[in-house]
Amino acid sequence: MATGRFAPSPTGDLHLGNLRTALAAWLFARSSGGSFVLRMEDLDRLQSSPEREASQERDLAALGLDWDGEVVRQSERFDRYEAAIAELAARDLVYPCYCTRREIREAASAPHGPEVPDGAYPGTCRSLDPARRRELEAAGRPPALRLRAQVAELTVPDALLGSITAAVDDVVLRRNDGTPAYNLAVVVDDAAQGIEQVVRGDDLASSAPRQRHLADLLGLAPVAYAHVPLVLGPGGQRLAKRDGATTLADQAAAGRSAAEVCGLLAASLGQSPGGPARPGDLVTGFDSRRIPPEPWRPAAAVLAPTDPCDP
Ligand code: GLU
Repeated sequence: MATGRFAPSPTGDLHLGNLRTALAAWLFARSSGGSFVLRMEDLDRLQSSPEREASQERDLAALGLDWDGEVVRQSERFDRYEAAIAELAARDLVYPCYCTRREIREAASAPHGPEVPDGAYPGTCRSLDPARRRELEAAGRPPALRLRAQVAELTVPDALLGSITAAVDDVVLRRNDGTPAYNLAVVVDDAAQGIEQVVRGDDLASSAPRQRHLADLLGLAPVAYAHVPLVLGPGGQRLAKRDGATTLADQAAAGRSAAEVCGLLAASLGQSPGGPARPGDLVTGFDSRRIPPEPWRPAAAVLAPTDPCDP
């Protein structure tokens, strides 16, 4: 029995990729007899809105997915994230970082700069000398807060990928605009909500080792991971709005019912031969070993904006 969750950011309509991941996460949890919770990752207040949240909830429900308890919103839990930062800070595991994105890019690509994996923080502010720190403070640059990571790399098991090995860098804990950072919020919330298995898109696979390390440092129970391959558009890029009928509303406009969409998603996950389906019908037969390891590229007809059979 494993408690699972779906944790979308309410920044737009869910597309087929999000819905497919939600279905997979729900099936993992429900087939184990576990609870399933919905968490809105609405830390980005400019992009998130109650309307977008409501539309996501409507689409999940229309697909036949249910969740236990109230929907949790990260925007209402800043005190928990701050408490975690304070706990780490008390152990000298937090430092202010004044770098801009551009400076991080430049430091990481400098010819004699530190060797850092793609996208990882090169550690510029980790041991800033006090004079330089005062200078930056005086210049009024608001700092982000970063974790002083204790390992450089970590491997975590994954139910679908086998294992994930990735760099553990000094992740941002609080952004320089005062907003708690995703990596911290996700770790704090997964533990607070008793999540045992995290099922999500494999674009986040390389974040799992960082998140595990953060959980370890906070003394939180580790979660198990299952990263689901993404859905790709016709160009081989991540599915995007321009690719056609990507949302449930688009699919409805193209003449496809929610049960038909669910059937398509289930088939793409290796859980049904196709044809209309409801999530509840798939629980008993669910077998995660049938989830294809490669990304799903929906057939052109699936993304066609209008039903070609319509007169
Ligand atoms: N909120 C993230 C997203 O929508 C997912 C985070 C997670 O599942 O850990 O991409």
